[in-house]
Amino acid sequence: MSAPRLNLYDLTREQLRGQLVRWELNPVHVARLWNYLYIELAASLDAMPELPPKLRARLAAETHLGVLPTALETASGDGFTHKYLLALSDAEKIETVLMRFTGRVTACVSSQVGCAMGCVFCATGQMGYTRHLTPGEIVAQAVHVARALRPSTLNSQLSTRRDHAPARLRNIVLMGMGEPLHNYDAVMTAIDILRDETGLALGAERITLSTVGVVPGILRLAREMRPLHLAVSLHAATQAERAALVPAAKKWPLDELMAACRTYSEMTGRRIFYEWTLIEGKNDSEAHARAVGELLRGLDAQVNLIPLNPTDGYDGAPTRSAAANAFQHVLATEFKIPSTVRQRRGIDIAAGCGQLAVAESAG
Ligand code: SAH
Ligand code: SF4
Repeated sequence: MSAPRLNLYDLTREQLRGQLVRWELNPVHVARLWNYLYIELAASLDAMPELPPKLRARLAAETHLGVLPTALETASGDGFTHKYLLALSDAEKIETVLMRFTGRVTACVSSQVGCAMGCVFCATGQMGYTRHLTPGEIVAQAVHVARALRPSTLNSQLSTRRDHAPARLRNIVLMGMGEPLHNYDAVMTAIDILRDETGLALGAERITLSTVGVVPGILRLAREMRPLHLAVSLHAATQAERAALVPAAKKWPLDELMAACRTYSEMTGRRIFYEWTLIEGKNDSEAHARAVGELLRGLDAQVNLIPLNPTDGYDGAPTRSAAANAFQHVLATEFKIPSTVRQRRGIDIAAGCGQLAVAESAG
């Protein structure tokens, strides 16, 4: 049986260089190949004409480019959000979201097909876990969004800042389907590829990883000094309330999670973003705001409030904006904790936080 073909998107530049050496080719050619992959965003070998013939022959015989075909694309009514249902090679599908906030484009990428963590209000949790994504499948989502931004496509209606790159992909959030710290190694390889300065160049300030609170993963991020922003999904300030919303809290209890967050901030010097899905009548009172304020006392913290987005499997309602404002007011005045309320984007196409599940009828 022949060896499986290498997916070029799976490899860091260093690994690709090593592969060229194993093929007894001059590793200097890695620069041109990388440029085709991540600057020109070539979608096939045919779109990489200027490679040395020996390298082309190897690539044609032993590799493939794991471009993810679009099974379905939907755009929100306000035009700011595009959701792509992308097909994987084993017929599984994942969702990737392009979000445009003032002047910035952010790609929200998935790290798994489904999710094993089972948060009650999350559509991905409601569908269960199927499998991890490979590094290449994560990278390919970012490339997909970057490609969609090229002048010939979605960007044509936008003002041109630089002739070839009107609205470049600026940020990546690992907040799509799946729990990124449950798929640690693949996610970190993907991040190394996304960060590469001669490629997509999405550096530390541009990548945010959101976790349900996988304690060993948070500690490992700190030990390895991974350059990224960390967001931790809190949703409740007591163990009992949290475990009712986030089953993973039974495995990694709140006190252990907060200890890990403290360690993370001490070791890295980085602020952590704490996410709080606001559910009417459940975790959105001023008393809840005070409880989270106490919990975060002394930590370098910012709270991101996300009014609940609707999902089929959970009948809670989103907090109204007056209550969200009161929650923010308590955090700001009594605890000096900055907070934001996540802009509701793409709700009409089920592309909001926690609404990502694979349904081809979506939109
Ligand atoms: N698995 C990671 C990242 C993906 S979810 C995590 O849980 O952090 C990204 C964010 O959306 C998380 O904070 C999650 O709790 C939140 N979320 C999930 N379902 C939601 C819903 N229905 N409405 C609002 N936010 C939701
Ligand atoms: Fe998984 Fe995050 Fe959804 Fe929880 S909120 S089920 S961890 S994707």
